Amino acid sequence: MFCHVKELQFDARVSEPDPRFASILLEQFGGANGELKAAMQYFVQAFSCRRPFPETYDMLMDIATEEMSHLEVVGALITMLLDGVNGELKDAANAVEWKSIMGGGKGMKEDFIHEAVMDPQFLVLTGGGPKLSDSQGTPWSGSYVTANGDPTVDLRSNIAAESRAKIVYEYLMQYTDDPDVKDTLGFLMTREISHMNMFRAALDDMEEDFPPGVLKGDPRYTHKYFNMSNGEDVRGPWNEGQGPWAKGEQWDYVEDPVEQVTSTKGQKHSDTKGESKSFKDIDDENKKLSKKKSQQIKESMPKNGKGWSDYSKPSRGPVKSSIPEQSKSGGPSEERPS
Ligand code: MN
Ligand code: MN
Repeated sequence: MFCHVKELQFDARVSEPDPRFASILLEQFGGANGELKAAMQYFVQAFSCRRPFPETYDMLMDIATEEMSHLEVVGALITMLLDGVNGELKDAANAVEWKSIMGGGKGMKEDFIHEAVMDPQFLVLTGGGPKLSDSQGTPWSGSYVTANGDPTVDLRSNIAAESRAKIVYEYLMQYTDDPDVKDTLGFLMTREISHMNMFRAALDDMEEDFPPGVLKGDPRYTHKYFNMSNGEDVRGPWNEGQGPWAKGEQWDYVEDPVEQVTSTKGQKHSDTKGESKSFKDIDDENKKLSKKKSQQIKESMPKNGKGWSDYSKPSRGPVKSSIPEQSKSGGPSEERPS
């Protein structure tokens, strides 16, 4: 269950309205790398982890809930950046005081009209609040969310998602001069870095994290690097030496893939160069891991009944909704140098 606390996770502020930046910031509200996508991705992934991987479930739900809190911060920022727009639009009988909306002449009526033409759904239909689309007006989609039911797959997907969210905030900060807005975006960007580290640590903590899933792959193809272009070739740990393999194994650099495909009759007669394990070794490992992973899920299923929660366990009480006065003014913290 969810409870709502009315205070924002970060004390978001805006120095002056800026409808143009509000429009770009929508990207992090309803865009492909935005906060709702992140929240929904970790939320959806959490279900299949609940019983077999309770520790991953706990982390996914915590981060999903924090992403909802970020969504709230971004929504509040967008609304504050549009301050004045809603009130002026409602004053339908009179001409709009554009100068006051645009922050003392910083912007122009034309700017606002241009924005409204670029994304009429946002600035005319919502009339001063966020909407669930990206900055181009494309509606948010569930297809942004990836969940594959295997924590090693999902965690990799999440590291990629956090990398994208981080860089979008970094780019967004180039489009505003408002120190208050930059401050909030800096917080949101930093949290994505933290999440990335959480997912990385959780992945590293898993016993068998590579390759994702169960099957090790065919030893005839796992260690081969195909030199698929002519001209100058570059060699590095991705195609020479031990690479990511265990000691005694190495990359097999196929200099001429055309010759190789002919001589191996389309890989069917390919060798296992570079790989130290035999087909049988790998087959045995596959069977062992297959059994282990399947057992892990089966054992986590409840024996009696089909309940989800155990209400006999003590749980944390209701969340306090008001921030105590003293915590607002003090506590050990380091002010950012300005
Ligand atoms: Mn976030
Ligand atoms: Mn995040």
